[in-house]
Amino acid sequence: MKPIRLLDNRLANQIAAGEVVERPASVVKELLENSLDAGAKRVTVEVESGGVKLIRIRDDGHGIGKNDLALALSRHATSKISELEDLEGVATLGFRGEALASISSVARLTLTSNSEGQESGWQVRTEGRDMDAIVNPAPHPVGTTLEVKDLFFNTPARRKFLRTEKTEFSHLEEVVKRLALSRFDVGFTLRHNQRSIHQLRPATTQAEKDRRVASLCSPKFIENAVIVDVEASGLKLWGWVGLPTFSRSSADLQYFFVNGRVIRDKLVAHAVRQAYRDVLYSGRHPTFVLYLELDPSMVDVNVHPTKHEVRFRDGRTVHNFLFSTLHRALGEVTPDAQLPPST
Ligand code: ADP
Ligand code: MG
Repeated sequence: MKPIRLLDNRLANQIAAGEVVERPASVVKELLENSLDAGAKRVTVEVESGGVKLIRIRDDGHGIGKNDLALALSRHATSKISELEDLEGVATLGFRGEALASISSVARLTLTSNSEGQESGWQVRTEGRDMDAIVNPAPHPVGTTLEVKDLFFNTPARRKFLRTEKTEFSHLEEVVKRLALSRFDVGFTLRHNQRSIHQLRPATTQAEKDRRVASLCSPKFIENAVIVDVEASGLKLWGWVGLPTFSRSSADLQYFFVNGRVIRDKLVAHAVRQAYRDVLYSGRHPTFVLYLELDPSMVDVNVHPTKHEVRFRDGRTVHNFLFSTLHRALGEVTPDAQLPPST
């Protein structure tokens, strides 16, 4: 029998990375979430070769101080929660302290940051090794730049599962899209192989928000959507619901956010389906960009590491609220609940 041994740090991180880092898109998701958690108002995402060769994300958030730089790359190191109770009302997108450790174990990572009150920026680099990170001075405005090169260079088994550059980029773009839809107040730039893909300025007015949704989801969607904005008993639902006539053959224009986090949830999906039931041909899929806001303690986001699932304290109330709000919104535009012509 083999003796039991503790995994060394690097191996433990690489195993954990399997949960967090599946492909370039997952790296972008983690890094962008960190930027948003740091209060960034502008983020720039530059990628090469679908993100496999390079992902560079720069933000103007609060940055990381020199003394915390190396720590930020360690596993279970987070500034976002410190005790179990904090999980109850966690408002940040991250909190597990796993992303940077995981990413740095499977790619060449450079973290450069500067925070208020420091004279200069500082930088740490890792190359997938379990090394003592060396911190060097590097010029940088207040904020952070994360550079992730050669994803999975040291884990060929993972690398094999990467698809074509085009496919990887489309996953990555989808991540940026979701986050750009979740934070209208933040400016987003996305470049691929030096080409500008999205350039979104912060949006505050309804017209600016319409414009952002139009440029991310197609202008047709905005032309064919009704605006929802309803608040009742601690629940608020707002956003855009596509007219039944603007249905799709696949469920590819459906975005649902709970307290700013994009989710896929059976209860939500069911409520939406019910609301559209009488006005949509079977086999067609509704289109929507919707935002549900409720007290953070009424929803558990700690269900799954990638945090796409949530658990509502009072699922029935949420379901009823969604159904009735959407049903009414759709009823107002299709009063006789007539079946629309197929598109
Ligand atoms: P988590 O986000 O779960 O806390 P991460 O591994 O993603 O864990 O990040 C570790 C820590 O590094 C964060 O808690 C935060 O303090 C810091 N950090 C990471 N990225 C940024 C950033 N872009 N701006 C400021 N701080 C950051
Ligand atoms: Mg994080």
